[in-house]
Amino acid sequence: MADEQIMLLRPEEELTSVRKRLEKTQARHIKLVLPMQTQMRSYVSWRLLHARARELGKEILVISPESQIRAVAQAAGFKVAESQGSPATDRFRMSNRPIRGGKPTQAEADHLTHTAQPRRQLGNYLLMRLLGQGGFAQVYLGKHIHLETLAAIKVLFTQLAHDDIEHFRNEARTIAHLKHPHIVRVLEFGIDRTTPFLVMDYAANGTLRQRYPKGTRLPLPTIVSYAKQVASALQYAHDAKMIHRDIKPENMLLGEQQEVLLSDFGIAVVAHSSHSDRTLDTTGTIGYMAPEQIQAHPCPASDQYALGVVVYEWLVGDRPFNGSFTEVAAKHLLVSPSLLRERIPTISLEVEQVVLTALAKDPHQRFATVQAFADALEQASQVERREETDD
Ligand code: ATP
Ligand code: MG
Repeated sequence: MADEQIMLLRPEEELTSVRKRLEKTQARHIKLVLPMQTQMRSYVSWRLLHARARELGKEILVISPESQIRAVAQAAGFKVAESQGSPATDRFRMSNRPIRGGKPTQAEADHLTHTAQPRRQLGNYLLMRLLGQGGFAQVYLGKHIHLETLAAIKVLFTQLAHDDIEHFRNEARTIAHLKHPHIVRVLEFGIDRTTPFLVMDYAANGTLRQRYPKGTRLPLPTIVSYAKQVASALQYAHDAKMIHRDIKPENMLLGEQQEVLLSDFGIAVVAHSSHSDRTLDTTGTIGYMAPEQIQAHPCPASDQYALGVVVYEWLVGDRPFNGSFTEVAAKHLLVSPSLLRERIPTISLEVEQVVLTALAKDPHQRFATVQAFADALEQASQVERREETDD
């Protein structure tokens, strides 16, 4: 009898199907390998699966490339491990590893052939190399087959069901209409079979996260300059009734003149448009997510909160809340951020007040607009400078 099995989940599989597969297998030790875009996102699903696994006497190791999923599975009681590299190469490596006690099932084999080969061309673009990968997409450097121009091609992990394609198209249209000097230009959208992708300007200077690795403190005038650029892009989007939902340094690219270009407008919404059983609105990134967005009610002020977290991080060198996914979520909801001046005494009272206002738990207690936040930050920084010259 096989004692160990590697079980590869398909993106669309939910609790019921995973539970059934678990009940069918004879193996006692199971490595559950998750794809990037899994429907198994809610704590409740993981908790129920854990309870069933215990009843069945199975030992399960959850392997996922997504830290959020690992955190939720771990909180539900599972042992977890991170998968390295791209999901495609992961699955490929897994498939080449001897699986003790049997071959993959037909479904697993189909899954492997479907995902192991990266596509070479999408639309009019040849995929040159992988630039990076996030929670719901891989981004490639692409070259136009006729014009030879470079672009960034974002390939979503989501497979769109027929109903979702129209929804995706509508969202895509809205995003493509955003035109602003601090928003990355979207050049083209496409759907290759059922995989959506979008083509955008390639930012050769990378992201603000790459420029300033975690733990870096930035000078106040630099912070003010970045915050103003991001805020003007956000204000423009908010006026057009759009919420970004995923503000963080990874989504701030640097243009040719070192100007900030905000990327991923509405992509989070598009990527998660398909049905799902998640209880949390995990479209954003938890470290930056406003309390109301965690409770699935994002509003424009949620973007202001996220920008507030980014400014806090640049000032202090650390985000206001750390810990596991569940801990950070709980802290956004319940805990006041520690005072900036307690961590870095040279920060002025004025600057601290502005940042804490943007981080108010109640969106109504924040600035009326994201632009007002950036303006207040600029004013507070000038007070600081005046005091310096007075001394
Ligand atoms: P999330 O999934 O939450 O959006 P992310 O922003 O890190 O996280 P992606 O948006 O998929 O994930 O981008 C992955 C990486 O690809 C980015 O961190 C960045 O390094 C790179 N990247 C994305 N867009 C571009 C672009 N237009 N030009 C150059 N590099 C890019
Ligand atoms: Mg991104």
